[in-house]
Amino acid sequence: MSDLDSIHPATLALHAGYRADPTTNAVSVPIYQTTSYQFDSAEHAGNLFSLSELGNIYTRIMNPTTDVLERRLAAIEGGAAALAVASGQTASAYAVQNLAVAGDNIVSSTDLYGGTWSLFRNTLRQQGIEVRFVDPSRPENFAEASDDRTRAYYAETLPNPKLEVFPIGEVAEIGRARGIPLIVDNTAAPLLTRPFDHGAAVIVHSLTKYIGGHGTSVGGVIIDGGNFDWAAHPDQQPALNTPDPSYHGAVWAEAAAPLGPIAFVLKARVTLLRDLGGALSPANAFQLIQGLETLPLRIREHVANASRVANFLDNHPAVARVNYPQLQTGAAARRAHAYLRGGYGGLVGFELKDGDRAGRAFIDSLKLFYHVANIGDARSLAIHPASTTHSQLTEAEQRDTGVTPGYVRLSVGIEHIDDILADLTQALDAATDDVKQAAE
Ligand code: PLP
Repeated sequence: MSDLDSIHPATLALHAGYRADPTTNAVSVPIYQTTSYQFDSAEHAGNLFSLSELGNIYTRIMNPTTDVLERRLAAIEGGAAALAVASGQTASAYAVQNLAVAGDNIVSSTDLYGGTWSLFRNTLRQQGIEVRFVDPSRPENFAEASDDRTRAYYAETLPNPKLEVFPIGEVAEIGRARGIPLIVDNTAAPLLTRPFDHGAAVIVHSLTKYIGGHGTSVGGVIIDGGNFDWAAHPDQQPALNTPDPSYHGAVWAEAAAPLGPIAFVLKARVTLLRDLGGALSPANAFQLIQGLETLPLRIREHVANASRVANFLDNHPAVARVNYPQLQTGAAARRAHAYLRGGYGGLVGFELKDGDRAGRAFIDSLKLFYHVANIGDARSLAIHPASTTHSQLTEAEQRDTGVTPGYVRLSVGIEHIDDILADLTQALDAATDDVKQAAE
């Protein structure tokens, strides 16, 4: 596995980062269920702690099972290195906190998952980090909202639940000219787009979704593209260019250089993960590796089924509007075609003609689809975001993130398409009947 760039994702998902266990020759990645690792000598321990030698110290900071997951995810996204953490939320928070401190700001797309919106609007603000929200359909908005304390741009590639693809290349370019890296959340589009190919500097994922794929384990990852020249922007990026008192004055852009272009993710590991402790458990890392191994197969089925569902809904008399990248028009369609090279994703949004009441009746009538907050499970899932995932947002904030009162989001699974369409048909009929009865 020497030249990872020439190997296909389906092969990387099974092989990258691991061949066989060095002590037992086990072919499946073992679960290293240990907190600690015995040091060879006092000198060895000292070297590990000073980072002059890399190796296992303590599972809060690294673990051999988690290490395989990290290597595999970095290979699949074409990045330099990765850091797995306890959840997607941890990944988003650390990615920002790794660059921004009190008094700094980031500029973020409005099109976000509700939990990220809440993290940015409330918790980061309470920590003194201002998040400036801008409409991503006009990339120049990012430039106009930036100043000399803007440490990062943030966006979701295929925003959940708005589903309008983010202009990755355009905004990455605006940022690079100013020394501002683009962090993208690629949770909804793994293997469908590779944000590093378009200039993003950091990728985060909620591994809880398509990558785990089976709804068993919560996890997240931060992947360093290794493609951002931190040292070239000392004023705009002080976190990586000024001495860190928590590591004897290490300047991360320089200290990491002998290990590769991994300054961002190394700093996150040895400072934020060390201090805040949002570590992934080895058992969950194992589950997520199992999921990742079949991701390429599953994502094909998700995409094929979602496309059928979107077209079915588009032709259904009870449906007012369908939101699926393949059916979009204008600039959104152009971006979808340009970026979603591997397919249009597994998420479909739609609005019923009879609005909120019909939307809720539809959800209550589903028999095959699960009514859950998750996405990306192998099973089909549905939710009414306005009353659940986005309920803590104001109505105006909901609209900004693409949520209207009657909007339903489907995460289309990999069941047989006929069974998926049959469930949707009966639930749409039941919703229509419910509204009729209420009117009588
Ligand atoms: N990012 C996106 C796009 C999500 O959909 C979610 C969860 O739904 C998250 C991040 C947060 O991930 P987690 O639930 O693993 O913390």
